[in-house]
Amino acid sequence: MGELRVNASELVDTYGREHRDLRVSLTDRCSLRCTYCMPADFSDWIANGSLLTTEELLTVIGVAVENGITQVRLTGGEPLLRRDIAHVIAGINALPNPPRISLTTNALRLAEVAQDLKDAGLQRVNVSLDTLSAERFKEMTHRDRFHDVIEGIKAAQEAGLTPVKVNSVLLKGINDHEAIPLLKHALANDWNLRFIEQMPLDAGDLWARPIMVTANDIQQELEREFTLTPVPTRGSAPAEEFYVDGGPATVGIIASVTRPFCSACDRLRLTADGQFRNCLFARDETDVRALMRSDLTDAQKREGIREILQTVTKAKLPGHGINDPNFVKPERPMSAIGG
Ligand code: SF4
Repeated sequence: MGELRVNASELVDTYGREHRDLRVSLTDRCSLRCTYCMPADFSDWIANGSLLTTEELLTVIGVAVENGITQVRLTGGEPLLRRDIAHVIAGINALPNPPRISLTTNALRLAEVAQDLKDAGLQRVNVSLDTLSAERFKEMTHRDRFHDVIEGIKAAQEAGLTPVKVNSVLLKGINDHEAIPLLKHALANDWNLRFIEQMPLDAGDLWARPIMVTANDIQQELEREFTLTPVPTRGSAPAEEFYVDGGPATVGIIASVTRPFCSACDRLRLTADGQFRNCLFARDETDVRALMRSDLTDAQKREGIREILQTVTKAKLPGHGINDPNFVKPERPMSAIGG
């Protein structure tokens, strides 16, 4: 992959935020049932016929890259459930001026495909793991697959999909006592650990502010054992990073609810069924699938995608509004939006 040529993004909202990061959900289906994400018996999936085909995906991503997107994060549901994911990655990597490509996964299939994805052009992975206990993993995800995740992380490291970022959600009275052990394990195994505040986006409507583990809670807990020093540079990154005991190792906290970072947001989203969203918490979304399946010429479709991207970006609100009294969570659950 040649040197990344960074032109000014064409995707600038009315607050001057340049959008360079496109989060692409490849499917809403998942191989786990994390309690804070979806009910164990959840089955309200997007119809297969509504999912963008690989060709449609690559066309839409191609236009986004032409307009300033320099990073593509593949998400889900669980993106490794998409059988042609290596083909999708290779297609993105073959674009003129290819973006950086990363993946957010539960790692159940990672040990099997890590090298293939690396060879296809994937650069790094974010793995979701909330506990170091196989028993608690089973309780929190309704699947007995803890060891597959650990093997997946190892395989990613061996394949060079690094740094491996590990995302952990802490739940009060469930796994919040594991903050220190998780960080110790991450330091010992070269994981880049980030704790994520639970967000009001679950399909089961379980989120409640009083039971949330906040960034302050997490930081205080870690500071019982470690010295945390803020990393001065952050940019548009969601994670607030801290040097651990003077560094160079760091730990991150992604505090969407209590320490919002929307003012520097550079992210746009494409759902698996072809809807553009300008924010994780957007209440509106704009369809691109109908355009892709219309009788227009390819050139007309590409122009249409560019116009939709512009419109969606210009309509972006200053922030998520979670802390506003009249906040209403989006209808679409996190599992159908992607991390
Ligand atoms: S909540 Fe929305 S605006 Fe805020 S950082 Fe996330 S995606 Fe960006």
